[in-house]
Amino acid sequence: MSDEKRTEIGEIGEFGLIDRIAEKFSPTNEKTVKGIGDDTAVYDLGDKYLLITTDMLLEGVHFDLSYMPLPHLGYKAVAVNISDIAAMNGKPTQITVNLGLSNRFSVEAVEALYEGIKAACDEYDVDLVGGDTTSSSSGLIISVTALGEVDRDKVVYRNGAMESDILCVTGDLGGAFVGLQVLEREKAEYMANPDMQPKLDKYDYVVGRQLKPKARMDIIHEFKDLGIQPTSMIDVSDGLASEAFHLCKQSGLGVAIYEDKLPIEKQAYETAAEFSIDPNSCALNGGEDYELLFTIGQDDFEKIKNHSDIHTIGYMQSKSKGRTFVTRSQNVVELQAQGWKHF
Ligand code: ADP
Ligand code: MG
Repeated sequence: MSDEKRTEIGEIGEFGLIDRIAEKFSPTNEKTVKGIGDDTAVYDLGDKYLLITTDMLLEGVHFDLSYMPLPHLGYKAVAVNISDIAAMNGKPTQITVNLGLSNRFSVEAVEALYEGIKAACDEYDVDLVGGDTTSSSSGLIISVTALGEVDRDKVVYRNGAMESDILCVTGDLGGAFVGLQVLEREKAEYMANPDMQPKLDKYDYVVGRQLKPKARMDIIHEFKDLGIQPTSMIDVSDGLASEAFHLCKQSGLGVAIYEDKLPIEKQAYETAAEFSIDPNSCALNGGEDYELLFTIGQDDFEKIKNHSDIHTIGYMQSKSKGRTFVTRSQNVVELQAQGWKHF
């Protein structure tokens, strides 16, 4: 081992690492329609496709129990997986839940966690059908796997965008990141002065975005009603810029995103300003909004143009035109993606 080259994970990053793993695992089972590289894997069931996705949340990395109530954590662990099923234009059906628990947790604490899991199962109409429970020496670990289904002619991948398709995003962006800043500040103040009561009322919206993200299944149902078939789609877990890069990379295209079109909610905007952080940067690079970023053909524009919760923020362009950000003053700059760095 000592003579072998050592590459730090930080040098290639999370996505570089995944690419490196993926290179060695080309699917061989003819039923595997999609392996590594999209929001879910896809398995051929005939008329329908089965969707499979998994996400793990670690205490101290993805959540802090000093401000994350256990029911919210349970809900969020499910919602982030449902969001990946939504990103394939699918409908979730079942989940399994794996837990790593330290002896710090009581039966009641585990029940509180499952209260949130149950709420998410009810809301998204999925069955909890199994899991695994182990002890953990490093805090709470919760890993959820979700299954879903989609008609084979309705599945949406990251790689289907075409030049001049319109780039759309649901809801608003940056709120979850700003909410995290508020929670971190309140925690620091509480540690310094435990008699202090947290002042969160003013920040209810952004804090809610961080603690209780919803998967946008409502939009998937609306696509059906409106007769919209996105050409590509991804959910916004790492930040708009990073997700747009995935659509570009997999579709072999560039993109133009307009600053004045970024949907940033008033409280997120004002709170970002209070923290002296650029609201645009929160929208572009903050994580965990769990909105849907998708492209549609120009012909579908009429169907969404009056939708109050779908925003057109740019368009796909040729790869040679690059990935660009058009500022309010019409300057065209290169779009940067910092995303969430776990390494
Ligand atoms: P998402 O943010 O949509 O959950 P990720 O960025 O986590 O997607 O993962 C991108 C792709 O890489 C997915 O297809 C995922 O299944 C795959 N992936 C992530 N980590 C691993 C791993 N350790 N081994 C194999 N595949 C992985
Ligand atoms: Mg995803």
